[in-house]
Amino acid sequence: MSHLTVDLGGRPGLDCRGFCSYCYFKHVRETTAFGCRHCLPFKKGCDYCTRGVREGYEGFKDLRTVAEETLANLQMMSGDLDRVTISGGGDPSCYPEFYDLIELLGSMEVPLHIGYTSGKGFDDPGVADHLIDNGLSEVSYTIFAADPGLRRDWMHDPTPEASLAVLDRFCEEIDVYAAAVIIPGVNDGDVLEQTCAWLDERGAKGLILMRFANRTEQGLILGNAPILEGQRIHTVDEFQNLVTDLNERFSMKISGTPLGDPSIGSPFAILHEPDLLRKLPRVQRRATVITGSVAAPYIQRILSIRGSTSRVVAVRKEIACLITADDLAGVDLSKLEDVVIIPGRAFVHDAEAKEILSADGVDRDVLRGPDMLTADAETSMGMTRNEVLDKEMEGIAALINTINRYGR
Ligand code: SF4
Repeated sequence: MSHLTVDLGGRPGLDCRGFCSYCYFKHVRETTAFGCRHCLPFKKGCDYCTRGVREGYEGFKDLRTVAEETLANLQMMSGDLDRVTISGGGDPSCYPEFYDLIELLGSMEVPLHIGYTSGKGFDDPGVADHLIDNGLSEVSYTIFAADPGLRRDWMHDPTPEASLAVLDRFCEEIDVYAAAVIIPGVNDGDVLEQTCAWLDERGAKGLILMRFANRTEQGLILGNAPILEGQRIHTVDEFQNLVTDLNERFSMKISGTPLGDPSIGSPFAILHEPDLLRKLPRVQRRATVITGSVAAPYIQRILSIRGSTSRVVAVRKEIACLITADDLAGVDLSKLEDVVIIPGRAFVHDAEAKEILSADGVDRDVLRGPDMLTADAETSMGMTRNEVLDKEMEGIAALINTINRYGR
């Protein structure tokens, strides 16, 4: 069984018929490289943390290039192909040769999956049946709101009625995971309830709500905050309550980011599973774990349950994977042990992290922990509870093993 990804290229915003008002790629400035886990030890900056994180690609690839790359990738694969995912920096619905692309991929006779589309490029409701006839089986589709006027105003969708008609048809025939960035006063409240009801009635599998972020500490690390000047935002707690409440009231699964997936109990669903917690290794040495402010209390509880007496230190950044050198520079060094573990995916060069976290004259060892300790709602949307728990067991056991191996 293998899985092929077809990358169409393209640039967020530019190859989406213009930026949505809330797009996180708006106003992205050319900043220096962050540094990350992929960088060479002596060089801060690699392709991933300079170009990849900004999705700084050229325009869409032409169909011939896509076809040649797909063929080349197919030839390198072993085993039966069981799924093809269409993705890109730009929006697949805006791909200029979309009909031909779908026919080409449909000829492979395997289920197609669109990794993400806003639907802004769909002007003709008939495209839905063309896609279904060619094997589309699953789509992640940004709805924003079931009100076409709001799609027109906020997503700049020139044909919102057609885009919603396509989504409607998909809900009838295939697995639809809808998504919406939630902007208080715009598409929350009654509008959001109507959107949930619209999707639920039509048979969508799930809806993922994304809290709108407008400040650097909420995750806008590309020098582009604020996206919407003066816009109110939900606190993490407000947002979690909203997600939990809606999930209870509709039959489709509703989850949110940064928190959480109430049907599964994640992030850190393991906290509800004492038997699994007991299977984790005991913490036998001391090390400080640095993480984002959302995950910190969960990780502290788990490590304390497994015997740790060291502190988990939260930076101002809410999301651990988006921690940068600036966040580490804000840490009170007097609280740190001699060994510090930062998130595996933090956007900091290893040498710089050590320099910042040893600035008080204590020569600290700085290590990276696992890439993921839990599944965020985008990851858990298509997973079972046991799959999420397995992922958490694996990630947290790896973190504890790192503490026990390198701690003091
Ligand atoms: S469709 Fe997505 S990537 Fe494109 S402009 Fe809108 S939010 Fe940005």
